[in-house]
Amino acid sequence: MRVTVFAGGYGGARFLAGMRDVPDTEVTAVVNTADDLVLHGLTVCPDLDTVMYTLGGGLDTDRGWGRADEGFRAGEELRAYGMPQPWFGLGDRDLATHLVRTQMLAAGYRLTDVTAALCRRWEPGVTVLPMSDDRVETHVVVADGDGRRAMHFQEWWVRHGARLPAEEFVQVGGAAARPTDEVAAAIAAADLIAVAPSNPVVSIGPILGVPGLREAVAAAAAPVVGVSPIIAGRAVRGMAEQCLAAVGVPASAAGVARHYGARSDGGLLDAWLVAPEDAAAVADLADLDLAVRAVPLLMSDPASATALARAVLAAP
Ligand code: GDP
Ligand code: CA
Repeated sequence: MRVTVFAGGYGGARFLAGMRDVPDTEVTAVVNTADDLVLHGLTVCPDLDTVMYTLGGGLDTDRGWGRADEGFRAGEELRAYGMPQPWFGLGDRDLATHLVRTQMLAAGYRLTDVTAALCRRWEPGVTVLPMSDDRVETHVVVADGDGRRAMHFQEWWVRHGARLPAEEFVQVGGAAARPTDEVAAAIAAADLIAVAPSNPVVSIGPILGVPGLREAVAAAAAPVVGVSPIIAGRAVRGMAEQCLAAVGVPASAAGVARHYGARSDGGLLDAWLVAPEDAAAVADLADLDLAVRAVPLLMSDPASATALARAVLAAP
């Protein structure tokens, strides 16, 4: 069973681990790269790294990002030199990943190939693909005292803790990006396409925003099954509520389903999984041509993530 999963970082990685652990699945992850940033000259890909470290057993699971058993001495040294951008945690062990990636990109390798090379060490058990080899960056337009101002998504999220009211999310470079041959093949060849319970606006949104990708999914033979990242009106973790509010989508399992839309109406989904707490969404969404099922969605351990993956496989 070939399963292609659209994923961001934290929610995406945990869902991918569950899908990988279902016997007889062959999983390809199409991962958001619009959170990527250049820091101290290094290309940092937060979602790719979260997926790679999580699936490879190298993530700091308490913190939820970066490497286990991490130190931050290089960052201290950079701060001592007065280097800018000290708000982004750059761990010593993590730094090696960014050094390898940046060198390979400078040597002319595509991000797809660089990611495959990094994964040879981590053996994540799934094929990890960036959504595109082209640079795309999510910027957030915020209302400031003096008017409107745009900043990199990571600055809004990490530095400002998503406290500045977001008015708009813009994918800089998005219109010129192309899906890679690998992503196109993973969509066309899939037996099932899953939309992980990742942030709909800043993780799944940029993936679907790669020109041609939505059309490729619409044309794919495989059914498309989504998992709600919102349970009982709240994001399990992170800033999905703030992001959804900025784009005018209710932070609810039904709101996100309508945002993605039913495939027969030109939207994305054939099936949608909501939590038992949100079982009322099944009736709410009855006007859509969508199979809506209420199943436990909390991935609190590997067994619950695998159970969720099985529910996705059974949903169409
Ligand atoms: P990020 O790139 O690290 O922000 O991660 P993602 O976009 O992949 O995932 C963030 C989303 O995962 C948030 O909106 C959370 O609500 C959702 N999430 C985290 N843990 C769980 C879980 O156990 N179950 C579900 N259904 N969603 C989760
Ligand atoms: Ca992310």
